[in-house]
Amino acid sequence: MAKHHNALRVARALRPAAPVTLVRPHAAIAAAALFASEFPGKSFYAVKANPTPELIRLLWEGGIRHFDVASLTEARLVRDLLPEATLAFMHPVKAPEAIAEAYHALGVRIFSLDSHEELAKIVAATATDGVNAADLTLCVRLRVSSAHSKLSLASKFGVSLTDAPALLMATRQVADALGICFHVGSQAMTPQAYADALALTRAAIVAASVTVDVIDVGGGFPSRYPGMEPPALAAYFAVIHRGFEALPVSYSAELWCEPGRALCADYSSLLVRVEKRRDDTLFINDGAYGQLFDAAHVAWRYPVALVREVASHAKPLDYDFYGPTCDDMDHMKGPFVLPADVQAGDYLEIGQLGAYGSAMRTGFNGFGDCLCQSVEVGDAPMSSLITGTPEPVELPGNVRHLFAKSGK
Ligand SMILES: *Cc1c(COP(=O)(O)O)cnc(C)c1O
Repeated sequence: MAKHHNALRVARALRPAAPVTLVRPHAAIAAAALFASEFPGKSFYAVKANPTPELIRLLWEGGIRHFDVASLTEARLVRDLLPEATLAFMHPVKAPEAIAEAYHALGVRIFSLDSHEELAKIVAATATDGVNAADLTLCVRLRVSSAHSKLSLASKFGVSLTDAPALLMATRQVADALGICFHVGSQAMTPQAYADALALTRAAIVAASVTVDVIDVGGGFPSRYPGMEPPALAAYFAVIHRGFEALPVSYSAELWCEPGRALCADYSSLLVRVEKRRDDTLFINDGAYGQLFDAAHVAWRYPVALVREVASHAKPLDYDFYGPTCDDMDHMKGPFVLPADVQAGDYLEIGQLGAYGSAMRTGFNGFGDCLCQSVEVGDAPMSSLITGTPEPVELPGNVRHLFAKSGK
């Protein structure tokens, strides 16, 4: 992979007509090392956030040994890349064929569930010649609030506190190790989300009177975006550790987490070109069907910077973006703050797209990932909670950022 110092150098060298993904291996390794050394338990990388093989290898290099997979394709991918990794199949609704292959061929022993039907499915699919598996770690997914998070995961999965005790008791009968897992929603803006979920976990354990061996606090660890400035990850780890220590679990119980976003958001940004300007709307060459799904569908805001040889001194302006496809849905309302003199032909860098950006690309309308090149860059991510980039993302910080970029 070609290597450059930063977005400006890439734009200068390639004058790319299609979007270019700028990857930062050092940022992925830093995120992995932070979780590996600071989280008070085991960290499972949630592969759905970004399944790029290079990234998965980098996270391993940074110290991540456990992976949360949600599909057979993800399980095969990680097993192929990392024969030594521990895999957990944490989708609460799985195909029997997927469970069977995961258990019998891929060495998966950890599964999640939120219903008696799924429990029966797992027991049947992992049996050998009519004998039940004796080495299963089964995690019952509890439904918890997403109130503190930017993206809810509260409706689709999870057993209610009312129904949890019966499911925990039934699962205890067939599990070698019994776990409780939950997901507080993605981009949890306060550690209180985990404190609340752990309080609910305590109530479920007390009501079921079962021995619990694993507490899995799921994903939801935040990254930094414009308008979203969460506290440091250390604050989350401290609250989780305290909550875990207070639970009535077996003395050898393990604490797990499943970070997706926090491990990969910093890994990549995107270099795009402005193809047209109409008032305060910029038509750029990536969008809702490319890496900007969340910008279009849930109005997510990403840090942006103008990538020009000579930095602009124009005042900041709020822009919205259209992507390249032929429909109105390919619209990102932002606001994205850039200098007022942006014009067609300018390049922009859009940051923090390593999580749920590059993973969501489609080839719709001919603007697909086949066109998207990856280039390695060596500068810092545009906005990081991991390294705690001191500068604010919003202008006028953005302007300073630009100066730094163009070496002024
Ligand atoms: C999506 C998902 C994750 C990762 O969530 P983030 O908010 O990206 O950390 C973890 N666990 C499960 C079960 C998920 O579905």
